[in-house]
Amino acid sequence: MTLIDGKATSEQIKTEIVEEVKNMLAAGHKAPHLAAVLVGHDGGSESYVAHKIKDCETVGFKSSLIRYEDDVTENELLEKVEELNNDPNLDGFIVQLPLPDHINEQKIIEAINPNKDVDGFHPENVGRMVVGLPGFVSATPYGIVELLKRYKIETSGKHCVVIGRSNIVGRPLSILMSQKEMNATVTVVHSRTEKLKEICADADILIAALGRPGFVTADMVKDGATIIDVGTTRVKSDKTKSGWKLKGDVDFENVAEKCAFITPVPGGVGPMTRVALLKNTLLAAKNR
Ligand code: NAP
Repeated sequence: MTLIDGKATSEQIKTEIVEEVKNMLAAGHKAPHLAAVLVGHDGGSESYVAHKIKDCETVGFKSSLIRYEDDVTENELLEKVEELNNDPNLDGFIVQLPLPDHINEQKIIEAINPNKDVDGFHPENVGRMVVGLPGFVSATPYGIVELLKRYKIETSGKHCVVIGRSNIVGRPLSILMSQKEMNATVTVVHSRTEKLKEICADADILIAALGRPGFVTADMVKDGATIIDVGTTRVKSDKTKSGWKLKGDVDFENVAEKCAFITPVPGGVGPMTRVALLKNTLLAAKNR
């Protein structure tokens, strides 16, 4: 069994990005600039955004953080989006989700200029991804495809089963895996799927993105399969200082001995998601 090291792969990609930034500066261009809009004080969102800002520093990007309290109005946020859309010094920006209930998330996403939508959530970018045109691909699917490529995992003609059909992970991933570049035969399963275990047990590549810790058990895995665990659920732990740890959707201990490749949680898909946002920001800067 080979452990797919997302952390090491993401570090390698960061080194490549640093090189590209150096070349851009040497050619007289500005460093890529990413802005993040953060609403409220949700612990998860705070930490994701802090990581994004830190990642920018690591690779030599400029970054800006724009904060609002929970009571920001939808109009205020739309005005800020418009301002960022028109800011010539900014290559890309993200509005950290989820937003408070009184704000229509889809409206905010659709207000973002697709050329600056480095999260790849705008319907124009989703559409471009579906028909195989260049654009911004959302970070987690982008990171997973990159991981499979860098580990030279054969995907052509293989049966890839994706558990989960969310707009940010399962659905875009299933589309990318079925495209000519990856050439996999894809099945998407979800909470209404019948015979889910049998379908998973036929997968050459099984991607679990449902957010149910330990859901994928050894009896659902074919010998020699590749397992990508997207799940990150915070569960109580008496082994960590904080009293919490991240748990994936795969029963790692029992599944690992059956498969050929597997991603750990943490240290698998997570770091690749982070670096994918940097890649999108770099692309936005190059497009400019
Ligand atoms: P989501 O929006 O809640 O979607 C979950 C999907 O899983 C839905 O399509 C749902 O089916 C399906 N599902 C739920 N329970 C199921 C079951 N018992 N059997 C089969 N399918 C089931 O979640 P998400 O945003 O895609 O995230 C999924 C997981 O990935 C979460 O743990 C999240 O924290 C993690 N994540 C990690 C990263 C990373 O960088 N590592 C990035 C994003 C997300 P229905 O559509 O039928 O409801």
